[in-house]
Amino acid sequence: MIDTHAHIDADAFDEDREEMIRRAFDKGVEAIIIPAIEPNRFEGVLSLCKEFDEIYCGMGVHPHNANDFDQQAESFIVNSMQFPKVIAVGEIGLDYYYDFAPKDVQKHAFRRQLQLAKEYRKPVIIHNRESDDDVMEILKEEQQGELTGVLHCFSSNIHVLQTALDLNFHISFTGNITYKKSILDDIVKATPLSRIMIETDSPYIAPVPHRGKRNEPAFVQFIAQKIADIHQVTIEEIIAMTTRNARTLFGLPLLMIGLIIGLSAFPMHAQDEREEEEEQTEIVKAPSPYARFIGFGPSVATNTIVETLTSLDVNEKRGTRSWDGNPSFGLSVAYNPLEFLMFDMGLMHTRNNSKLNNANKLPGSPTDPDVYTVAHLTARAIANPRGKVSFFAAAGINYLSKRVYATNVEFTDDKQLAFNAGAGFMVNIPTSYGIIIPIAEWRLDFESKNNVTKIPNVDPYNTWGNVEISTFYSLPKLTILWYPKF
Ligand SMILES: [Zn+2]
Ligand SMILES: [Zn+2]
Repeated sequence: MIDTHAHIDADAFDEDREEMIRRAFDKGVEAIIIPAIEPNRFEGVLSLCKEFDEIYCGMGVHPHNANDFDQQAESFIVNSMQFPKVIAVGEIGLDYYYDFAPKDVQKHAFRRQLQLAKEYRKPVIIHNRESDDDVMEILKEEQQGELTGVLHCFSSNIHVLQTALDLNFHISFTGNITYKKSILDDIVKATPLSRIMIETDSPYIAPVPHRGKRNEPAFVQFIAQKIADIHQVTIEEIIAMTTRNARTLFGLPLLMIGLIIGLSAFPMHAQDEREEEEEQTEIVKAPSPYARFIGFGPSVATNTIVETLTSLDVNEKRGTRSWDGNPSFGLSVAYNPLEFLMFDMGLMHTRNNSKLNNANKLPGSPTDPDVYTVAHLTARAIANPRGKVSFFAAAGINYLSKRVYATNVEFTDDKQLAFNAGAGFMVNIPTSYGIIIPIAEWRLDFESKNNVTKIPNVDPYNTWGNVEISTFYSLPKLTILWYPKF
């Protein structure tokens, strides 16, 4: 169980905060997310995250406090995005019920923070009270395919639900669905289990049977139970689904993985505290999704080998021949010294099966496929490194080793420098295990030196005398890189 929304930094818990947190973990709560609400409590929220392994937070300014969303608050939020335990932008949104801040001020703070979420690739935690139309209109305008997040304490109608689902948002329910007079049963029922999350909104909105008292994360089970009743499934199923949804949306480590690498992957040291104090007042750009990471993974390609032949003995004898569809396999290790620059080192191995398949047309020719092994060092210049899909141009050097098995050619074993150039695009997929980057590219490899040979038995080259052959390789190539979290 994950309590995806609990203000346990609130004064209401000053007397017994630690016991309250222990009670939650004792009741099977695996993680608690604290959405920040006002700038002068940001530090308190962060220090709770540092103190407890399974406490995470969102950074943002609540609509009640929209008047406090100034440049300094924005800088703090931006700086905090680099801490692994700050997993969302929130709590943000609109609240026309209390109207503590003018509507246009609320809207400005909401919009600006949605833009920060997109820029720093964080999900958003959205508060909406009596402001359905404006919240949904702004979300529609800002969605552009990149926003993810949750409408917390969902209490709106079926149309808002449908729009939210269409916009790819998750829906989180809290204590009010357990109330006798709740009219939310149909809404809960209409929310697919793949999008539901649970929360307490502590210290407010305590569920039955604690209604009217101070709420705390240990009570989140009552919300899970109510959803199970409405969906007519077991509470275990609801717990499993809501936990999975929350871990996926907020990028929390899966439990098993968490146990294994959690300590190393999500350290919060005292040092962070110091850094944060120092950096608090200046705007620091969030780390690039690629920069300072090392990734690795496999490559596959289909290699077309193109030879240009020029007769040295007979004037005007020129021609090309090619061998296409040759499977090529390899491995890459990538390192990004700058966010727009990726070095890729690797190996590709190709067997010229298509030449072998033509062996009967090549008298006296191959009994084994030609084999090409290329070690490459390529630099990719990335045009838009912070995009979901990034485009690049690439160039580099190769070390090529080729073995040509034809019995009637003079060069059978050759090693030489070669060059590569290419272009393509890559997709950035953040996961809880790190970043997965599929790369599709079209690469050309050029040999640096030409071979001179006679091709005595192959028509028409048998009449050409000495033939100079220059070779290049065309490889549409797919690489999947994994950048693990360090
Ligand atoms: Zn709220
Ligand atoms: Zn809240």
